[in-house]
Amino acid sequence: MKLATKLIHAGAEPDPSTGAIMTPIYQTSTYVQAAPAQHKGYEYARSQNPTRKALEDAYAIIENAAYGLAFSSGVAATDAVMKLLNPGDEVIAASDMYGGSYRLFSKVWQRYGIKFNYVDTTNTDNIQAAINEHTKLIWVETPTNPLMNITDIEAVATIAKAAGALLCVDNTFASPYLQNPLNLGADIVMHSATKYLGGHSDVIQGALMMNDENLREQLYFIQKSCGAVPGPQDCFLVLRGIKTLGVRMKAHCENGIAIAHWLRNHPKVAKVYWPGFEDNKGYAIAKKQMNGFGGMISFELKNESIEEAKRVLSSTHLFSLAESLGGVESLINHPATMTHASIPREERIKNGLSDSLIRLSVGIEDADDLIEDLKKAIG
Ligand SMILES: *Cc1c(COP(=O)(O)O)cnc(C)c1O
Repeated sequence: MKLATKLIHAGAEPDPSTGAIMTPIYQTSTYVQAAPAQHKGYEYARSQNPTRKALEDAYAIIENAAYGLAFSSGVAATDAVMKLLNPGDEVIAASDMYGGSYRLFSKVWQRYGIKFNYVDTTNTDNIQAAINEHTKLIWVETPTNPLMNITDIEAVATIAKAAGALLCVDNTFASPYLQNPLNLGADIVMHSATKYLGGHSDVIQGALMMNDENLREQLYFIQKSCGAVPGPQDCFLVLRGIKTLGVRMKAHCENGIAIAHWLRNHPKVAKVYWPGFEDNKGYAIAKKQMNGFGGMISFELKNESIEEAKRVLSSTHLFSLAESLGGVESLINHPATMTHASIPREERIKNGLSDSLIRLSVGIEDADDLIEDLKKAIG
């Protein structure tokens, strides 16, 4: 079955009690048992909920995975993966990744005796060089946030397998419409479903997808033991969002192409970060492992002052100044003071994330209107 069809039907069985075509929001904390321990597979809603189950089935289907698990946020999903580790274990993680992942690793998990090696994963030699007998997990994000750097998932999967380490890919920016890391050899896919999967900026949620049954059992155990589960209403919203992921991503990609090229030709723009340019260093790999380049674009102005960046950021009308991404409406963001403020400045600059960098989450409005908005703001 093609993805466009799967997205509409994934996880959606007519409700057994009424035939309702949409999975109902099972707003319940517990389930009545016929006799002690005689139940219908549902005992207590932290462990099982039918709305969550429909969504978890959908998560598995859209990533070509055997299993899906839903969490109360993207970072809760990431946190669950970290709980597979033991003190003394080492993680190799991307030096340029979502600020919240870096914060979780460096400020929380490091205190529990997990060691993190941050490397530029776009050059897989750096990953190979950081491997040692304690390496248990490789954490990759591609494209990265916000510099759109591309890492070769298949190459990293080969390194991970040889080292006996798990590979987890944060696939939030690409969405399952553009990239399926499990097909390329990854062990776990993580999504902030808050972004493209939900798609309407109205829910916080995270997802993990995997093929290995044992891994699924461990992660399910962590999910129910630690309790970072999403409520049924949030599951309903993401189930609904997934149905339009195909048409939305198509529109995000088309608008992305138009805006990336327009920005690149603007005399006041110094550099545009978007993997769809043939001279982008990640282009060949992006072309190989993605089905499109998405709607995330970052750029730098020729005037490098933070004041000029702030002026542009405050001058758009259709692009709302906000953190987050992946919704139908366009957003504009200043990584240095917003999404990536938790990364120390020195570290940020070293990773190529300048004070004047501006990030766009291109929505699905008309591209001409979006360009007009940017034109007025940049001047
Ligand atoms: C937003 C985001 C996260 C964190 O997800 P939440 O749902 O906000 O907890 C992780 N990775 C990436 C790439 C993100 O954009």
